[in-house]
Amino acid sequence: MKNFQFHRPKSVAEAVVLLKASAAAKVLAGGQSLLPMMKLDMAQPSDLVSLAGLADLRAVRVDGKNLLVGALATHAEVARSTAIPGLAALAGAIGDAQVRNRGTIGGSISHADPAADYPAALVGLGATVATDRRRIPADSFFTGLFQSALEPDELITAVHFPVPERCAYAKFAHRASKFAVVGVMVAKTAGGVRVAVTGAGPSAFRVPEMEAALGKKFAPEALDGIEVAADRLQSDSEASSEFRAHLIGVMARRAVAAA
Ligand SMILES: Cc1cc2nc3c(=O)[nH]c(=O)nc-3n(C[C@H](O)[C@H](O)[C@H](O)COP(=O)(O)OP(=O)(O)OC[C@H]3O[C@@H](n4cnc5c(N)ncnc54)[C@H](O)[C@@H]3O)c2cc1C
Repeated sequence: MKNFQFHRPKSVAEAVVLLKASAAAKVLAGGQSLLPMMKLDMAQPSDLVSLAGLADLRAVRVDGKNLLVGALATHAEVARSTAIPGLAALAGAIGDAQVRNRGTIGGSISHADPAADYPAALVGLGATVATDRRRIPADSFFTGLFQSALEPDELITAVHFPVPERCAYAKFAHRASKFAVVGVMVAKTAGGVRVAVTGAGPSAFRVPEMEAALGKKFAPEALDGIEVAADRLQSDSEASSEFRAHLIGVMARRAVAAA
């Protein structure tokens, strides 16, 4: 691990000044993804800007028709929230107790791991990411493998989840890490049905054919005969693209049944 300067700002504005001061500065939230990367020399920040002093970013509260989840809310805190049970259950199935007690929603979505669970929640629920300078719809937030729409010096402050009529997430989890081999969030919202998949491509994506079918009849059998093409899916030692295509159908049906 290379040497770095450690900072503990007392406000979002102060954190952003520190991030702008060095192109190689990095935000530190729960450290569950960044610290392992630093230990492996896959990340070599000149400065670590810790968010630990920004208590305001920990809030989890209902804000009008939205659930506001502060960027520093841990997975365990979201798992204890009650406004969107399907989101709470998703957070409660991330990793293990240590990861859930340290890892944060802001860190997870900034990292944009293709197998992470929260991307399915953000895209499936039509969330909005608030940063120090703008609001980014979830549909345009995840831009590729470990890539997001964030600028290098941009700080996530919160995620706003519209409260759906109902939703559920079903995951076929990696046996060791619990990351999603395939995870599907299905949500029935005032604006229609949304179906979002994580773990199967470079970033979370929606399945319009499933959304249309569930819009007509919100029941597992409405998905009969709908298959996601395997050729655009990821294939690795955990699952072939054909198996992932099959899992998307199975997980989507389970999520509809649970919702
Ligand atoms: C053993 C293990 C199992 C795991 N299993 C799962 C799993 O099943 N499902 C799952 O989804 N994830 C899983 N994870 C990942 C976990 O959810 C991490 O908590 C998450 O990916 C990173 O969150 P963090 O708060 O620890 O971020 P950090 O590691 O502190 O930071 C990660 C990245 O985000 C940036 N960042 C952090 N906060 C902000 C912010 N507010 N604004 C801008 N940039 C920011 C950092 O600069 C860094 O680039 C697992 C991790 C481990 C170690």
